[in-house]
Amino acid sequence: MQDCMFCKIIKGEIPSHKVYEDKDTVAILDIRPINAGHTLVVPKKHSTDLLDIDDEDLKKAIVVVKRVAKAIKEAVNAQGINLGMNNGKAAGQLVFHPHLHVMPRFENDGYKHWAGKDISGEELKSLAEKIKKKLL
Ligand code: ZN
Repeated sequence: MQDCMFCKIIKGEIPSHKVYEDKDTVAILDIRPINAGHTLVVPKKHSTDLLDIDDEDLKKAIVVVKRVAKAIKEAVNAQGINLGMNNGKAAGQLVFHPHLHVMPRFENDGYKHWAGKDISGEELKSLAEKIKKKLL
């Protein structure tokens, strides 16, 4: 993809701080980290998001995520790791090439869990049915 920032990074046309690379996947430092060590794991083959990525590329990427998470935890003495993946504009995706955020976390680093909404048992039951039908 011509205008894809991650494709350009993968080709070396845009500089990055690579922490890992193999033939299918790269891991680079996020230039706007939530905490020091925040890394993006990026499959090399272009697609747009989780719903579009090839299953094999995704499997390879998630294994790299695990390795990178362990390395980050040790490198910055993180107490926890969050994973994140924004899929679609409404979910905050900025670069439309799939990437997984591996984010080191520390006690009292100021971040909070998502705020949950109230939902009725009836609504949960109906949602479960709707989703299950789509998985058949
Ligand atoms: Zn791309």
